[in-house]
Amino acid sequence: DIQPRMVKGALFTYIRPEQSENPELLAVSPAALKDLNIKEGEEKAEDFKETVAGNVLHGWNEEKQEGGYPWAQCYGGWQFGSWAGQLGDGRAISLFETMNPNTNIRYELQLKGAGMTPYSRFADGKAVLRSSIREFIVSEALNALKIPTTRALSLTLLPHEKVRRETLEPGAIVARFAQSWLRIGTFDILRARGDRDLIRQLSTYIAENVFDGWSSLPGRNAADDGKAAEPLSTGVDKDSIEGPAGLEENRFTRLYREIVRRNAQTVAKWQAYAFTNGVLNTDNTSIFGLSIDFGPFAFLDNFEPNYTPNHDDHMLRYTYRNQPTIIWWNLTRLGESLGELMGIGSRVDDAEFVEKGVRQEDADDLVSRAEGLITRVGEEYKSVFLAEYKRLMTARLGLKMFKDSDFEELFSELLDTMEALELDFNQTFRKLSNLTVSELETKEARVKAAGVFFHHEGVTGTGNTDESARNRIADWLAKWQARVYEDWGPGGNDKERMVEMNKVNPNFIPKSWILDEVIRRVEKNGEREILDRVLNMALHPFEESWGWCAEEEERYCGDVPRTNRSMQCSCSS
Ligand code: AMP
Ligand code: MG
Ligand code: MG
Repeated sequence: DIQPRMVKGALFTYIRPEQSENPELLAVSPAALKDLNIKEGEEKAEDFKETVAGNVLHGWNEEKQEGGYPWAQCYGGWQFGSWAGQLGDGRAISLFETMNPNTNIRYELQLKGAGMTPYSRFADGKAVLRSSIREFIVSEALNALKIPTTRALSLTLLPHEKVRRETLEPGAIVARFAQSWLRIGTFDILRARGDRDLIRQLSTYIAENVFDGWSSLPGRNAADDGKAAEPLSTGVDKDSIEGPAGLEENRFTRLYREIVRRNAQTVAKWQAYAFTNGVLNTDNTSIFGLSIDFGPFAFLDNFEPNYTPNHDDHMLRYTYRNQPTIIWWNLTRLGESLGELMGIGSRVDDAEFVEKGVRQEDADDLVSRAEGLITRVGEEYKSVFLAEYKRLMTARLGLKMFKDSDFEELFSELLDTMEALELDFNQTFRKLSNLTVSELETKEARVKAAGVFFHHEGVTGTGNTDESARNRIADWLAKWQARVYEDWGPGGNDKERMVEMNKVNPNFIPKSWILDEVIRRVEKNGEREILDRVLNMALHPFEESWGWCAEEEERYCGDVPRTNRSMQCSCSS
């Protein structure tokens, strides 16, 4: 009998998954098998099925009571801008770590939906099939789009599990894996507890075991320049008060910068592919820079920057447009947790410094330096974000080199056009890839080409395919053509350019309406094959076709049915 409780002095609890009767293995990701170095065919074994259902423990010897035992992580979080206290893996249980000898990448494998843990709070530790299908497919889709993400190995239906949400729903387990499941929330909880030793231990663990050691971090590669960060029992770091020397190069600052840089890159990729997480609380922000926690996520259908997929996000905090700002907000919380180790003491406030015998001027100085350091890392966040965003948008537009004028003239104008004419975000890029640039010589040709960007019904969302809409696209195409010629030579080298563009502009995106249809087909019609088929599309998103049913494939790569555009999800999953 598991009692939710407040945990002290630790960041995890040993706990095993619940047993479940007659689990049905619905789908397995071939890409995941490969990355975990599991031999093809092994997923058909009984042992595999029972392991990913939580019925069999690997590495744990029940008789001798020894080996590795599963665990659930403890963390806290800022949810929708407010401190939410202790959270944790309320329904995820990690089974073991495994190293792929071919890549030397180590993963932590865990089961989501395998029963209660001490962190289940008021909930049941279960996951419904609906949200499990969504997580299973999107994890693998993001990975195929080269967007850092937690992964999914398998999807298991628990036929005897009926889970109460708004209604009774079938339960499921996703076996998922990641290089790290640590989050900003892991630091938040320690900061809230005032556990300075464990913050240091966790930071050191991350630098040495999650990343490739201190010397792999950005900044000066001195062997160990963490002197300014020795913990002092007074709560104040003397060295850090004495002067700014070494401040920026302190090894914990470098760790912070690594985490910041990774997240800047990931959010840039989200923006470039119009992925919205929907619940970017600090417990859903990875220290490894992964996309993590797939609840009410969505890829944008039409380009609507103020769209949030989260039905409960009334304040529009987690819209597509806000993601870069929100991730920085979360990273600022991390900066505060790491403040003392970075030698800026931001964890303790002014009054506390003075009480501990620090002169008021020094305390003031410390606080302003704390703000200064985080602000400077914020500048780095912005520049890493922008560099990655420009790189991706440049590639998506089929250009070789970014030019300063591209930002306004190509990126902004295209985005504004998509928004105004309610064009589909990812499809627009794919359609652009397949235009023959050399045929866009005349105004008439460009106006005609503009037609392909509208939805198939022949109208945009606004119902506007009139001259002004077509002209607007045509004018943009003229600028684009000039830039393509500049980079590829006169004529634009259509053949090669198309190949390059189709490598970065997906044909298939698991949009909400598709996931919704798959869920319906699996739940209501008892279909199974559809899962493998859509997974296969998600794993190879840049293909032109996948060879199962041309009509179905075309439908899934085509327009979003009008009534299913910009759907929203509740958080209940
Ligand atoms: P999320 O909004 O997905 O980030 O979840 C916030 C917290 O609630 C996390 O600590 C989850 O583990 C926990 N949680 C969400 N759903 C459940 C559930 N059905 N059972 C137990 N814990 C849950
Ligand atoms: Mg979460
Ligand atoms: Mg969640």
